[in-house]
Amino acid sequence: MVDRASLKSTFSSSVNLRADELERVSRDILDHPESGYREIRTSKLVAEWLQNNGFEVKTGIAKTGVIGTLDTGRPGPHIAVMGELDSLLVPGHAHADSDTGAAHACGHHAQIGSMLAVAAGLTESSVIDGLAGKISFMGTPAEEYIELEYRESLQSSGDIEFFGGKQEFIKLGFFNDVDIAMLTHTGGETAGTFGIGGSNNGMVGKTIQYIGKAAHAGGSPHLGVNALNAAHLGLAAIHAQRETFRDADTVRVHPIITKGGAAVNSVPSDVRIETYVRASNVPAILNTSEKVDRAFRAGALATGAMVRIITNPGYLPAKYDESLTEIYRHNAASLIGDDNVIRLNHSSGCTDMGDVSQIMPTIQPTANATSGNGHGIDYLVENYDLAVVKAGKAMGMTVIDLLADGGEKGRKISGSFNAPMTISEYLNRMRGFRSDFTYSE
Ligand SMILES: [Zn+2]
Repeated sequence: MVDRASLKSTFSSSVNLRADELERVSRDILDHPESGYREIRTSKLVAEWLQNNGFEVKTGIAKTGVIGTLDTGRPGPHIAVMGELDSLLVPGHAHADSDTGAAHACGHHAQIGSMLAVAAGLTESSVIDGLAGKISFMGTPAEEYIELEYRESLQSSGDIEFFGGKQEFIKLGFFNDVDIAMLTHTGGETAGTFGIGGSNNGMVGKTIQYIGKAAHAGGSPHLGVNALNAAHLGLAAIHAQRETFRDADTVRVHPIITKGGAAVNSVPSDVRIETYVRASNVPAILNTSEKVDRAFRAGALATGAMVRIITNPGYLPAKYDESLTEIYRHNAASLIGDDNVIRLNHSSGCTDMGDVSQIMPTIQPTANATSGNGHGIDYLVENYDLAVVKAGKAMGMTVIDLLADGGEKGRKISGSFNAPMTISEYLNRMRGFRSDFTYSE
């Protein structure tokens, strides 16, 4: 049997041979950003790459998702290596689509590069011959939880149930036989490092509609009911709750108005808001969600408007597996040195990797390779060697550790994982977050 060190060295050399191509693919995606559940071109590009490299590929999963599988033919753990297909909407970003405002201001294009780097290296026959089990490369749609009204329309038409792509993958059964999951996100911590560990907030998403009564804004506002004023009071009432948020719960509530009125000379009668309610734990999410609903109702009560509040399941808090992190840490350190692998703190941001982390051992390290503000107009991946090539190598070497020797380490990690919930408990939990009610005095 070939030892791990030589499997890793063959794997690494074959990734090196494809380094330029992998950066090109990432930059191609950067220049053609598509937001969640609209990633038609990105998905096709990933599917074609996987097909051309001999993978068995499934497409159209959760609308735009792709899975390419590499089966060693020997029994062993099944590992999912993931990359997110979607961009954000950040008009003004240097690589934004001028029509849609879509932009890769979260570095997901580099994730796809790092996922394909793992695929490129493992497909080498002398590597795969030394492994057991299966590896699935999952291009997942819609990690960014945005365009809530669009996603509600996809829900109504039955295209999706959940707003997050990985959630749909879970619901559709594509994680049923997966044992371990990983993905590398780009990050902006100390440049040139990998970040490991950490955790993320969870959240629910809300769409709010205030319904008032239109009237002449100058001549007869007394005949109208001002939905914008109702919304204004609702937002102020949320701010009045902030002193009740406990630091330990890392609560974040950050509404936006997506429609503020129709014409300036007409009393606004239809005003829409989207918000998240984020916290580090589910009880705090639920408790804050109730306060936010109460605040929105207060705006309707005060003005005599009506308010409809739809709450959708968001993402669960993420907690990354320590034993898996340790294997990854060792491999990451072998590439860039011990001192350059740093521990991450809790992040008040959210991800649907959180959902995956509730059902199986999961890691989401960061490749700190960017400049600018995440989700801002100046967020750019600067170091493709780290974000794509080395990130792919660190994950691929971890896969080799897990699947060498008949998959012994992978079995151990998966066997000792104490899952917070089963897949069906997960689906029930998520469905339980959903509510839709209308309030008027
Ligand atoms: Zn992201």
